[in-house]
Amino acid sequence: MAQFGVREIRVNIQTEAALTQWLKPFDVRLFRESSETTVAKLEKHLADLSIKGLSLTEPAVLSRAARALMTTEREHIAGHDEDRLAAIIDLYVRTGIQVHSPGYMGRQFSSTVPLAGVIDFVSSVVNQPSSFYEAGQLPNVVEKIMADELNRFIGWPPDSFAMVTTSGGSLANLTALLAARNDRFPGFWTEGGAACLGQARPAIAVGDDVHYSVSRTAGVMGIGEAQIVRLPLNDEQQIDMDRVRPALDAAERRGLRVFCLVASAGTTSVGAFDPIDRLAGVAAERDIWLHVDGAHGASLLVSDQLRHRLKGIELADSLTWDAHKMMFTPAPCTLLFYREKDKSRRAFRQRASYVFDEEPDSYAALDSGGKTIECTKRPMIMPLWVVWAMYGRALFAEKIEYLCRLTRDVHRILLAEPDFETAHYPESNILCFRYRPGWVRDEDVHRLQVTIRDRIKLQGTFFISKVDVGGVAALRVVMMNHLITEEHFRMLLAEIRAVGQELSGGRQDDQQHVGGRR
Ligand SMILES: *Cc1c(COP(=O)(O)O)cnc(C)c1O
Repeated sequence: MAQFGVREIRVNIQTEAALTQWLKPFDVRLFRESSETTVAKLEKHLADLSIKGLSLTEPAVLSRAARALMTTEREHIAGHDEDRLAAIIDLYVRTGIQVHSPGYMGRQFSSTVPLAGVIDFVSSVVNQPSSFYEAGQLPNVVEKIMADELNRFIGWPPDSFAMVTTSGGSLANLTALLAARNDRFPGFWTEGGAACLGQARPAIAVGDDVHYSVSRTAGVMGIGEAQIVRLPLNDEQQIDMDRVRPALDAAERRGLRVFCLVASAGTTSVGAFDPIDRLAGVAAERDIWLHVDGAHGASLLVSDQLRHRLKGIELADSLTWDAHKMMFTPAPCTLLFYREKDKSRRAFRQRASYVFDEEPDSYAALDSGGKTIECTKRPMIMPLWVVWAMYGRALFAEKIEYLCRLTRDVHRILLAEPDFETAHYPESNILCFRYRPGWVRDEDVHRLQVTIRDRIKLQGTFFISKVDVGGVAALRVVMMNHLITEEHFRMLLAEIRAVGQELSGGRQDDQQHVGGRR
């Protein structure tokens, strides 16, 4: 009997020891220690103002480095090793695009406001998904507050519009177009394409330069890519108003019914703004849903100086607005607005008794799960709201104004450089241009830009992108970081020129054929 007792105790002790090991990662003191290590690393990262582009590591090399930081313990829970954690954070911070460096000029995701990152960290710890009020109470209330705050710049009556957050602009565009399709073709959700048999086929009209996420929706929604009506652009890369009605008439003659017209408020390639007010006129004439893809440029609405670029925004049926681009918050954070509240329920029509209440109470009325593709969704509004709550609108307006002013200034610099050409006048903070000294043949211009871009990327000081404008490649800068000055841009030009001249073999006067050479 006694033996039994002893054995039992021993088992308990063992269990407890095992339990202790198992509980270790949940220890709050360890949490503090790891956080402090991390914050110190990030502080150093943010304080580093050196000019860095992208230093690409071979995937195999990086994979080896990552594996070397993994525990080799397979049987037991490995002990906490703060040094290993520090090395992992170093590796993470060091690789990838350095968005906080003035060398970063190539993409649309932001150098974030550091406080926004802190709040994202809080979100990850408290882990309150925001699709349902009961799970994330503050995020849901704050979504409503932020919707009202931003709607002041759109201008809809406070009680009649709606806003939902989605994980990125691509998803917001898809959601809005689903709502548009279901609104104009009420049978489609249930019957699918059969709902339109014998009738005009559903189609969408877009600017020729529309973001690929919009044209993708045609495939996703079962409309078919062939039913995308591409509207020609003018010299400023905006939808050419003179050719909109003829294009829509031609579509109608082809047996299409355009139910949605998508205007870009800031195209991805050059940041051009389509004339929303005039497109709204056409949409109203023809009973077409007007969606504005403002993923990049809707943020200009918060600036008194720049808001006019979205003139007529109050006439749109829906608007995609990425806060992780020009509102400087961590990705993803997208706001999808609908002019009419009821329309926000059109995108999806489903019953699911485990989440959707038939008669929502005042709490469930705030649930957004019925309006988005996501079920579990990050409380992505929190970083945006906290920065807005702490510092107010002016922080955003002034940073956006600085970035747009800087882009106009560097455009002016380019105009004075005889060996460069600009591809457009910058309406926001995106600028495309080409290195094109007299000795480059027209047919080589395209290749030359691509080669220069690749070289600049490999050199690792500046990170820039490229895009075709009017069918010819151009170098593209996106000014997302307020640390960038004209001086940095002049350095970039010097680097481009040096690369370009090197590609020509340093012999510019003999009309070298440079484009095709490496
Ligand atoms: C970036 C962008 C998108 C895509 O948004 P994500 O948040 O990256 O999914 C869509 N449209 C435009 C105009 C964009 O610039």
